Amino acid sequence: MRLARSRVSRRTAGFTESVIREMTRLCALHGGINLAQGFPNFPAPTQVKEAAKRAIDADINQYAITWGSKSLRDALARSYRELYAMNVDPETMLTVTCGSTEAMISTLLAICDPGDEVIVLEPFYENYGPDAAISGATPVFVPLRPPSFGFDPDELARAFTSRTKAIIVNTPNNPTGRVFTRTELETIAALCRDHDVIAVTDEIYEHIRYEGQHIPIATLEGMAERTVTISGASKTFSVTGWRVGWIVAARELTAAIRKVHDFVTVGAPAPLQEAIAVALELGPDYYMRLATEYRARRDHLVRLLEAAGFSPNTPEGAYYVLCDIRPFGFKDDVAFANWLVTEVGVAGVPGSSFFSRPELGRDLIRFTFCKTADLLEDAGARLLRTRSAANARADG
Ligand code: GLN
Repeated sequence: MRLARSRVSRRTAGFTESVIREMTRLCALHGGINLAQGFPNFPAPTQVKEAAKRAIDADINQYAITWGSKSLRDALARSYRELYAMNVDPETMLTVTCGSTEAMISTLLAICDPGDEVIVLEPFYENYGPDAAISGATPVFVPLRPPSFGFDPDELARAFTSRTKAIIVNTPNNPTGRVFTRTELETIAALCRDHDVIAVTDEIYEHIRYEGQHIPIATLEGMAERTVTISGASKTFSVTGWRVGWIVAARELTAAIRKVHDFVTVGAPAPLQEAIAVALELGPDYYMRLATEYRARRDHLVRLLEAAGFSPNTPEGAYYVLCDIRPFGFKDDVAFANWLVTEVGVAGVPGSSFFSRPELGRDLIRFTFCKTADLLEDAGARLLRTRSAANARADG
């Protein structure tokens, strides 16, 4: 008799489907307002949309060069030089990917061997857990503690061992909204240099900032050769569905990353790469306007959440607000988020999605404010019912 063997790999047992995307599905099912998954409900800039249409009409509809069309790599090299004085050779140091999501997994597959440790600051963007599992690396979590969501430098130092291969740094941070200071980034950089560790930085929210400065770790002393800088077009140009991201890294790292990227995806959408090359010409005025508009949305949602009794944190960057849900008397965050979308009609992401152990996020929910004022207003009106509906439920 033949023994039954699993049809699926052991690697897929190490993680679940995305809770963020599951909340979007549940929200659609209940006709709710989606403040869960972070995608804008407003249009991308006209110039960027026009550039994509022109590219398709010009028959740029076949594969681009696997690591990115020349026009986009040149535009990125120029942009990194102008914004951050970074010297990026478009021929050897840039890889254009299918969003920063692909950038992160291609990077980890290119740098990690099974048994390597990757340090992750917690709470963390949901994807990093599965990314580590798929690449065979062991994540080592170091807490970011409220209310400031900073890390303890000694605790971080203790997490670095001879097995540490990389640290993932996400600034501005999802979900805490933290923008790391130069001092904090210097602490991380010094540990990377001392322990010969690679900093993998997720800078997708680099232009969505309300406090502080965006400092790519790659610009700190001795870090250019040991940093993989990840960013993308999704959040900056409100095109999350286009799937255009990129990776800046030293030549040796880029060579390995490009091999993984090539065999996993062949390449990112060619006409949309042309459009993002044009988008990058919008420059500093555009980025300033983006941040100003997001600040108004942040203040709007924070005000609405306060009125509804949620005690939200006020983020320094990115477009999420974490809230304490203890006042509503639920058993945990998942029960609360499921109830909220069903009974109140607003979707958020349960806090446990951002932690290694569910109990660490039990008291939290994350809402996004990358939405128009009228949608935020509608969500706010619904959320005002939360307390009374929760009380009625407890009484009943
Ligand atoms: N980064 C966004 C979020 O945190 C979108 C996630 C996704 O579904 N790719 O909500």
